[in-house]
Amino acid sequence: MDLNAQWAAAWMRDAAAAMAENRQRLIDLDRAIGDADHGENMDRGFSAIVEKLDADGVPATPSEVFKLAAMTLMSKVGGAAGPLYGTAFLRGSTAVAGKEGLGAEDVVAFLTAARDGIVSRGKAEPGDKTMVDAFTPAVEAAQTAASAEASGAETLSAAANAAEAGLAGTEPLIARKGRASYLGERSAGHLDPGAASTTLILQAAASAAGE
Ligand code: ADP
Ligand code: MG
Ligand code: MG
Repeated sequence: MDLNAQWAAAWMRDAAAAMAENRQRLIDLDRAIGDADHGENMDRGFSAIVEKLDADGVPATPSEVFKLAAMTLMSKVGGAAGPLYGTAFLRGSTAVAGKEGLGAEDVVAFLTAARDGIVSRGKAEPGDKTMVDAFTPAVEAAQTAASAEASGAETLSAAANAAEAGLAGTEPLIARKGRASYLGERSAGHLDPGAASTTLILQAAASAAGE
């Protein structure tokens, strides 16, 4: 499917379904190294995005869908993840403003701006055991795919696969940001919940595009 506003809306719906389906898994991951609310937070936020799309209709461009998502996540999701994902979608929205359809380079611009937004807000570096450890390899894989003439959908799929590998890589890490950092060395041996939700979000982007 073309990466237009209908795709962006389908992405949000697929992400909401993934959050509902993985709610308990994300809660369990967050119970191990946090406060057991990540599944609830993400499910609430993405359900609210779908409700808003149902109530107001799908906006004209992907950028406007991402802006709606950003505003909703910021207002409905407390804790660390709401403002971080809100900033990600807001910066990503700006990066592709005015475009009716996104190509591979636009996907790269979106993902890069989204990741940079998370980093500027949360100050985490790769290796700190956060969502940045899924997002950063996703950005790099998207850049590589786009340079090799991949389609927008293929670029999303490459990003999602790299995020999944990045998620697996969080297991041995000691958390240096967020609530999990309070555990120090005891945070090692668990996957990071935010890296898990980032992977679900990017997988939803690719699956909505038909990849
Ligand atoms: P809270 O920790 O406030 O309960 P959530 O459980 O919803 O919030 O989200 C926790 C996730 O947020 C972590 O697993 C981690 O991926 C991410 N996170 C926390 N702090 C930061 C940060 N400073 N930078 C990037 N990601 C972060
Ligand atoms: Mg939590
Ligand atoms: Mg919390």
